Amino acid sequence: MSKFLDKRYDSLAAYVPGEQPQDKKYIKLNTNESPYPPSPETLEMANRGEAELLRLYPDPDGKILTKKLADLYGVETENIFLANGSDDILNFSFMAYCANGRKSYFADITYGFYSVFANLHGSDYTEIPLEEDFSIDYKKFCGVDGGVFIANPNAPTGLAMTLSQVEEVIKSNPDYVVVIDEAYVDFGAESAVNLVKKYDNLLVIQTFSKSRSMAGARLGFAIGSKEIINDLHKLRYSTNPYNINRLTLSLGAAAIDSQSYYTDNCKKIIDTRAYATKELENLGFEVLPSKANFVFAKSDKIDGGELYLKLKDKGILVRHFTKERIKDFNRITIGTQAEMEALTEKIKEIITEAV
Ligand code: PMP
Repeated sequence: MSKFLDKRYDSLAAYVPGEQPQDKKYIKLNTNESPYPPSPETLEMANRGEAELLRLYPDPDGKILTKKLADLYGVETENIFLANGSDDILNFSFMAYCANGRKSYFADITYGFYSVFANLHGSDYTEIPLEEDFSIDYKKFCGVDGGVFIANPNAPTGLAMTLSQVEEVIKSNPDYVVVIDEAYVDFGAESAVNLVKKYDNLLVIQTFSKSRSMAGARLGFAIGSKEIINDLHKLRYSTNPYNINRLTLSLGAAAIDSQSYYTDNCKKIIDTRAYATKELENLGFEVLPSKANFVFAKSDKIDGGELYLKLKDKGILVRHFTKERIKDFNRITIGTQAEMEALTEKIKEIITEAV
């Protein structure tokens, strides 16, 4: 830290992304990326000369992509906000609704960036403990006195709330913005997008990083009331109006045009998730019932941290968190069928070596 840094950032603990080691080729099951490439249409678009136009700024309103998303989700273009990954939108949401001592509420075990943004913007935040079985008791999020952030499905547990539970939370907090982070919704949970027409305090956030195989392009979007979307635009235009580059905007539009390719991939991932869950259970793991493109699993034979290290040694990366409540678990991204078969083989070896 330099002597010049503002004192208010002294105690800020920055977000730690999943590792991206370059020392050898790993089977990467640690950052919830898609194991499948972008659609042929998206790849074709990447080669179509948009790069020649890079001398020009992108459209700061991303009008073409915004219109396609509005049509796909049955809302108006004024209900759509685009950003440089959904993290960008979470940042704006804390900045807009929960900064400088204003309150925010999120689960104790959830996406690690919520507490980072809360600290960054000086939010007075409360972490609401998950239940013993790691589910969210929606009633604990009802009638609170601040902004609410819920990942649905939750990360790293993969557990999802029902749409009616989500609606109760939105309905009971009419004076505060409720952010439903649906980064993983396409893998089997119920989306709250249709509730945007009914509640002006709802902001649904989604991303192209998971189900649309575009984590490297950095593209997220949110759907909310026109007023909330305007707030976000105001902050975006006050920080970086060109927050999405030209290539990403055009690839995003091509991805929306190949929706069925991505729905098929989601189906494949859901099938592979069922396979991986069964295999891990057969090996004595407790696996939480996941609606996401990852499973959260704990072995009865080997410690979570040790399993992570041994898998890494054998060329497979999974994500281990050291937080007390979940340190026995590993979060394992669902890869291809072959990758999950390799995973279970390596786990069998590790367990046999351990006994
Ligand atoms: N929300 C949740 C729950 C996530 O797990 C992630 C991915 N780490 C994000 C948001 C951010 O995704 P991105 O910025 O790639 O859209």
